[in-house]
Amino acid sequence: MSEQGERATFLEEEFGAHNYKPLPVVLTRGEGCWVWDVEGKSYLDMMGAYSAVSHGHAHPRIVARLTQQANRLSVVSRAYHTDQLGPFLQKACQLTGMERALPMNTGAEAVETALKAARKWAYKVKGVPEDKAEIIVCRGNFHGRTLTVISMSSEPQYRDGFGPFTPGFKLIPYGDSAALEKAITPNTAAFLVEPIQGEAGIVLPPEGYLKACETLCRRHNVLLICDEIQTGLGRTGKLLASMHESVKPDAITLGKALGGGILPVSLFMAKKEVMDVFKPGDHGSTFGGNPLACAVGLEALSVLIEEKLIENSAVLGAYFLEELKKIACPAVKSIRGKGLFIGVEFDLTMITAREVCLRLMKEGVLSKETHETVVRFAPALIITRELIDLAVIKIKKVFEEIAHEKRK
Ligand SMILES: *Cc1c(COP(=O)(O)O)cnc(C)c1O
Repeated sequence: MSEQGERATFLEEEFGAHNYKPLPVVLTRGEGCWVWDVEGKSYLDMMGAYSAVSHGHAHPRIVARLTQQANRLSVVSRAYHTDQLGPFLQKACQLTGMERALPMNTGAEAVETALKAARKWAYKVKGVPEDKAEIIVCRGNFHGRTLTVISMSSEPQYRDGFGPFTPGFKLIPYGDSAALEKAITPNTAAFLVEPIQGEAGIVLPPEGYLKACETLCRRHNVLLICDEIQTGLGRTGKLLASMHESVKPDAITLGKALGGGILPVSLFMAKKEVMDVFKPGDHGSTFGGNPLACAVGLEALSVLIEEKLIENSAVLGAYFLEELKKIACPAVKSIRGKGLFIGVEFDLTMITAREVCLRLMKEGVLSKETHETVVRFAPALIITRELIDLAVIKIKKVFEEIAHEKRK
């Protein structure tokens, strides 16, 4: 690494908390599907910032809208109306079929909002006795990092040393609708679920799972809340991943790509019956719904539709998956995904996912391991067939190298 690179990593190490373990590359610029390090080397970004960069880096339309709005009005708080909030929420509702939206900033905040809404709905609408509301979640879930959100987690590392935890959650296995039916009680407010578990390692539930969960939730007057922060906005080849099974959740959370790869923008969205439990003063966020975020969010949604990024995700995702499956590598245990949301699972006795990512990086392809075994590919949805072909050539080279070594 160059002196400049060494300096940058040293400063992070010295003055930063050590809560991440980045790959040893120092990035300084991005455009479309490409990023450059401080030495000027280019990389194909096949990670897309955990699906936050679905529009690619520095999308010209979104950057133009950002600068225009930044020069006009950025932050005034929700103490006032602005001309940007309404149109953004309207667009989000029109696209998703939800009736109302509440703007926050990060994904975790949108999930917190969902939990608060579900509890309040249980008490005020469903008639659950005070403080008895239960929310059912799945093992392997990832919904963010706040204390209440990690209180729902089944991942020991996310919880270790952070107790005591928020009560009121029930964990069930993912992909098992019978387990959901068993877990529901008269006090169940909601079932919160990712249509595909992202951080768990791109885990796809059995076909028909979400539909079965929807039926059960309707039958028992339980809210179905889909966390679409990572799976939403075209990532899996539909606007929402729940749309693959024509599921209509009572509420959803959106984030990540909603910020157009530029800002943190998130939404909790729901039908009126749920959202209307919030009265003035019940909940809020200083930055949530600020005009700059709304302008960027609205442009991000417009670009998604007008540039047909969802269709591109479906078509090129299927192509990419097919091409990956053609690569023979004995260290690969499984290759799975939907749209441009793909996970390659490695046999830990042969190689770690991090080692694979380090080798891909040397070839100019950026990815990141999820847990120890899964390498994820979630490039910007603007990616072309040519760039996928280029990525596949490089991925193939690395996989074949590994296969060759392991054969020895
Ligand atoms: C990333 C993610 C979150 C948390 O979003 P942050 O912006 O990091 O707080 C929540 N749910 C899912 C499914 C995610 O992938």
